Amino acid sequence: MAKINLLNSKIYNRIAAGEVVERPASVVKELVENSLDAKATSITVEIEEGGISLIKITDNGSGIEKSELKKALLPHATSKIATLKDLDNIASLGFRGEALASIASVSKITIKSKPTTQESGGEIYAESNEIGKICDCAIPNGTEISVQNLFFNTPVRAKFLKTPRSEEGEITATISRFIIGHPNVAFKYVADGKTILQSYGDGFESAFACVYGAKTVGDCFYIQTEKNGITINGYLGKHYFTKPNRSYQTVFLNGRYIVNQTVASAIGNAYAAYLMKRQYPFYVLNISVPTDVVDVNVHPNKIDVRFANNQIIYGSIYSVVSKVLDGSGEALNIVSDFPLNNVEKIETEKSADVFKQNSIHYDTHNSLNTQYKPLGNISFSDIGAPTGTKSASFDFSKKKDEKTEPVVDIFAENKAYIEKLEREKAEKLKVATEQLAAMPERELTLIGQALNTYLIFQDGLDLYFIDQHAAHERVLFDELNEKLKNQNVETQPLLIPYVLNVNPMESEFLAKKCELLNKMGIEMEEFGRNTFKISALPVFLAQMNVKKFFDDVLTDVNELKNLTVNDLLMEKLAQKACKSAIKSGDTMSDSQIKSLMNMLKGNLGLKCPHGRPIAVKITRTEIDKWFKRII
Ligand code: ADP
Ligand code: MG
Repeated sequence: MAKINLLNSKIYNRIAAGEVVERPASVVKELVENSLDAKATSITVEIEEGGISLIKITDNGSGIEKSELKKALLPHATSKIATLKDLDNIASLGFRGEALASIASVSKITIKSKPTTQESGGEIYAESNEIGKICDCAIPNGTEISVQNLFFNTPVRAKFLKTPRSEEGEITATISRFIIGHPNVAFKYVADGKTILQSYGDGFESAFACVYGAKTVGDCFYIQTEKNGITINGYLGKHYFTKPNRSYQTVFLNGRYIVNQTVASAIGNAYAAYLMKRQYPFYVLNISVPTDVVDVNVHPNKIDVRFANNQIIYGSIYSVVSKVLDGSGEALNIVSDFPLNNVEKIETEKSADVFKQNSIHYDTHNSLNTQYKPLGNISFSDIGAPTGTKSASFDFSKKKDEKTEPVVDIFAENKAYIEKLEREKAEKLKVATEQLAAMPERELTLIGQALNTYLIFQDGLDLYFIDQHAAHERVLFDELNEKLKNQNVETQPLLIPYVLNVNPMESEFLAKKCELLNKMGIEMEEFGRNTFKISALPVFLAQMNVKKFFDDVLTDVNELKNLTVNDLLMEKLAQKACKSAIKSGDTMSDSQIKSLMNMLKGNLGLKCPHGRPIAVKITRTEIDKWFKRII
């Protein structure tokens, strides 16, 4: 047996860094959180090459005293908690005291800092945890931390980095969350010398508009409510303002960005009735709960949290969101005139309260007979207690026992259901294919067209009823599909190229799909940061709604169950085939019937692209039974 070694701190740090420092965006997150904990009101983030070569954060916070600089770089060194008791009431963002030590172990880091109490600043440099000497430097009040050459000493980790562009996208998403989650802090974010985002620290609406654009404010309900000790405020996309994937869903809990199943299910289920396949809600919500009913010490990256009572959280959020969506049917009609007014005001006045004044107000006691009042926010005078929870407020005494209670996984049920449907579908497909294989090519005798919908044929002792629309649809679909497969689609240039604006994550995804889409006749190219230009479409798609198509393509971005671009094109092909095929009700001449049958090549076991059968066989035996010739 080998001897047991106590790891020295250098090795330990490098292992621990794996938890905190996954990629450049996690470094940015840790450093910005430190600035926020230091009460900075202005934070600048500069990056180069997706943060891989440089991440520099400058803040005007409280600073680190010269004598403390070295300590800040040591593992488990924190000024934020001192005793075990402090752990139950964590208000600061960082508290483990491991971020700086971990970052220092995998990069070259320089910290310059000056608290107001000091005449001049102090500077310290560390590389692979070798901490250098402290010297004086000239710097305004606050802290400047530069992290260079991330993972230079851990090549394996460096290999897992994505492209600078992808890493940059992740950092942009991180900063966007900080801007919205900390609307009173002014952020500036510069990538490779270009200012990407800038907020002014003048309130939530302004921060929201800075990230999503002023127009989006008009596409959302602004809500503000308090119930059961839970405060919820933020923006909920209006019914029509749907998104193609989940990357437009943001939740902050007590100022911290979280991804939490209970909260996501509550909002998702409230929206479910209003959404079609592949549509996802847009929302940005701030939720505040007393710090002692939530456990943030769950995830190493502190993204998930655990609630003392999931039902109360679920119920409260579900009922708030449902009430806004369900009760606003009438108000929505009235309010739809407002975005224009809003936009004008946004441009002329920089007051953060402008939107509040124009957002809707209704009385939730009687939401269907709502009187529209143009002043004031949506206010909830009564948010019903969630079903199944008698007590409307937190029962703090229960907290400790319930901590280990598993989260009700609503998605797991859906998953099982989807899997069942998929199994059934696969089974049906198998049967259809077998049928097809068993079907010999044959000469059929035409009896005639019935009801202007069905073609009737006789084959020996059997009769075939063929659905003329389904059969033609299938033939056209196969033709188009063949062309697509051979990359032989004719394209048609768009009169006005379509410009598609996406978020960084979607941009990264589309960039990868460009080649494939081009091959399929959808001519598109990247056109500046997060923008794509679509200049031609396959002829068969010329009439399609381009926005809708790309919304569907972008569903792929973060869904586990991947819908491929190819599937989507198949869907479009099917639609096109359906539109151009002979309709039910059309009279067909004998020669038309004959050419349709030729195209079908006797493949009567086929289904139309929507899965309906194209032919049904009735045997003589069956008919004889109708007349009791045989029993
Ligand atoms: P934690 O944030 O968990 O305390 P860190 O390793 O992130 O641990 O930081 C260690 C300590 O360094 C902090 O507790 C804080 O005292 C100090 N510090 C780090 N960044 C800053 C900053 N930007 N301004 C002031 N103090 C800072
Ligand atoms: Mg920290």
